[in-house]
Amino acid sequence: MNVFDRPYETMPRADREQLQLERLQALLARLRRNVRRYRELLGETRLASLKDITQLPMTTPEELADAFPYGMFALPLREVIRLHSTLGPAGRPLVIGHSANDLAHWSRLAARQLIAAGVTAHDVIQISVGLGTLGSAAGFTLGAERIEASVIPEDPVHIDYQLAMLRNYRATVLVTTPTNAHAIARRLEQRRIDPQSLHLRVVLLTRPIPPAERETLSAGLFASIRCHFGIPEILDPGFSVECSAGHFHVNEDEFLPEIVDGELVVTTLAREALPLLRFRARQAAELSEESCSCGRTGRIIRPGRRLDDRLLINDIPLYAAQFAEALAETHAAGRSFRVECDERGVVVSVEVTDGLFHDTMRDLAELKSRIQSELHIRLGIDAAVRFVAPPSTPPS
Ligand SMILES: [Zn+2]
Repeated sequence: MNVFDRPYETMPRADREQLQLERLQALLARLRRNVRRYRELLGETRLASLKDITQLPMTTPEELADAFPYGMFALPLREVIRLHSTLGPAGRPLVIGHSANDLAHWSRLAARQLIAAGVTAHDVIQISVGLGTLGSAAGFTLGAERIEASVIPEDPVHIDYQLAMLRNYRATVLVTTPTNAHAIARRLEQRRIDPQSLHLRVVLLTRPIPPAERETLSAGLFASIRCHFGIPEILDPGFSVECSAGHFHVNEDEFLPEIVDGELVVTTLAREALPLLRFRARQAAELSEESCSCGRTGRIIRPGRRLDDRLLINDIPLYAAQFAEALAETHAAGRSFRVECDERGVVVSVEVTDGLFHDTMRDLAELKSRIQSELHIRLGIDAAVRFVAPPSTPPS
């Protein structure tokens, strides 16, 4: 059985709950002492049992964005040795700070996932995730170094170069986004390269994909496909471990998950720089107590859809509000639009009324080019733009 942190990952439930309660009480003391917002909200609340957590205040992503950059940090900045930026609600910036201890914990949590995926010290790992997921590259790099595998950090922008690196360095493990994994599989097919001529054993993806898609990728890359489920606003990778049975076990020694009205709510139990109490992850999920053949005892989480307007465009996280802001710079300001994305590219359909259709072809061409330019400059996206008449495009 591939388990990195056996005492924690297979801890009996009663012991784990005792550990969680102790860590939660210590967390409340730290939050009261070091974070003004929590001091005001928590008052003298004391916890007798884990169940009492439901009486504690929640933290929303909006509150985290309001406190940007350092308003919710629980350590002075000189003790924060790493800062990773990520996207919050409506595309507002968030920053995740790490103390030295946080990084040490992060490396262990990422190592848990790599070991569960079958990675060993003998592997050569290409870590190749892209824009918007750079924090995740840092986490997987720490984890891979922790288990003493050989790491090749690589930019996934140029597929042929990436393929050459995979072959030349005889990488056995690839950590990447589903978008990049599909691009590599397509390129192998186009160039009639036998995927077996690579040396890949395991491809670990940065987010869960459906079983049929896994099979396609597994055949295209001639490797076993594993997935990870993290929470970009808190820690990604690190929140859970996908085991060989295909279940996502929450790392419950470090995170206390709850499901509130179908939404995943997470309390960080061990983080020092940016501890969060009952953070609303804007993510639908189910939690299950069922036991698993892998021996891990952390509860199994089944992630569902996002509960906010975050989109993944080629695995780059973007919010619908950011598209609206780009349109607002053009004559299409305030119009309804729809964003679609598949392997052929991104299409933004903008709803226009009869009045706009009466504009000359030249005006429409200019507007289209202006929208494309704004999307490129603001969001880094090269999109096709279409004008459609209502009501074929419902407001989105
Ligand atoms: Zn399992």
